[in-house]
Amino acid sequence: MYRPTVAEIDLTAIRDNLRAIRAFTPLKTQVIGVVKGDAYGHGAVRVAAVLEQEQVRLLAVATPDEAVELREGGIMAEILVLGNSPADFVPYAVANNIALTTVNQATTMMYGAAAGSHTVRLHYNVDTGIGRAGVLADDATEEILCSATIPSVNIVGLYSHFACADSDPAFTALQTTRFAAVIREVRAGGLQPAMVHLANSAGLLSSPGVMLDGVRPGILLYGCPPVPAPTCSVRPVLALRTVLEIVKELPAGHGIGYGRTFITERPTRMALIPIGYADGYLRGLSNKAHAIVRGRFAPVVGRVSMDVCALDVTDIPAAVPGDRVTLIGEQDGLSVTAQELAELMGTISYEVLTGISKRVPRVYIDKSP
Ligand SMILES: *Cc1c(COP(=O)(O)O)cnc(C)c1O
Repeated sequence: MYRPTVAEIDLTAIRDNLRAIRAFTPLKTQVIGVVKGDAYGHGAVRVAAVLEQEQVRLLAVATPDEAVELREGGIMAEILVLGNSPADFVPYAVANNIALTTVNQATTMMYGAAAGSHTVRLHYNVDTGIGRAGVLADDATEEILCSATIPSVNIVGLYSHFACADSDPAFTALQTTRFAAVIREVRAGGLQPAMVHLANSAGLLSSPGVMLDGVRPGILLYGCPPVPAPTCSVRPVLALRTVLEIVKELPAGHGIGYGRTFITERPTRMALIPIGYADGYLRGLSNKAHAIVRGRFAPVVGRVSMDVCALDVTDIPAAVPGDRVTLIGEQDGLSVTAQELAELMGTISYEVLTGISKRVPRVYIDKSP
């Protein structure tokens, strides 16, 4: 590693966040560890290994390849693939304790046929209002009960996903009611899925009454609550850091960066830092974000370019090349959160975190024994 730009991942924070979530959920409710999207940019295998050590029994990923990555990385816990899987993945899934998501009878038949003489474990996804994958709640009971008779499949789970748990409690309650009806009818029809699960991070925080057999927190594990969470105290896991590379005096009236979108109004000390949009420090942060240098906030001035961007350190006279810079995270008692950067760009912390590119080495810190 020759370039000083890194994402520090505090695995102790993952452990503590998991504990906080468990303390918040009923005893009978399993916490399913959502590690899709390379664990929201934190590194799926490393995060999964910690969750597994902490007795998380089910990990959720989005794609079959993400499941393979976990297995090849030595992760043993059961995995649920939330997205679609092709037939030729089924033998691997069967042999490697990977459960798949099904959404209708046709898909269930495809999985059953591909499993052959083995049995593939399936979770049925019910669309209670998100309008993406999943069988529509109105059709769900019949589809699920018919699917259950298909050879070589075992429907071990039923789940649904909230559309707006962070913003619309009434709709969230409606989805909950619809899902409860499907569960009731499926059970009345003679199928007893071992695990029914519904709530994502915002759902479990905003409707703690609906945690069922399992909850699927993602962003909350990474310490970025999507809604205020005064009673479930988590902290950010990731810090994005670099160092000042070049510190240079510019006269008043001098442009900084492509497009000269920032013109100095005074003699200015510009500090160049080796991070840009190819690292996931996005161009939308140009002239908006600030970073922490020597206990002060230094504004990003001019456009963020692919590999570098500039800070104004005029008001931080002690700043010199080599000084530590924090773009996301805490330093010197100050903090910048992924959520704050997201708001500057009109997006969400998820996109900021998953956008940190593979050019940025992940450095792991684990203070636990
Ligand atoms: C991503 C995802 C989650 C986790 O969502 P968060 O908002 O990060 O908690 C849960 N369930 C499903 C189906 C998902 O796709």
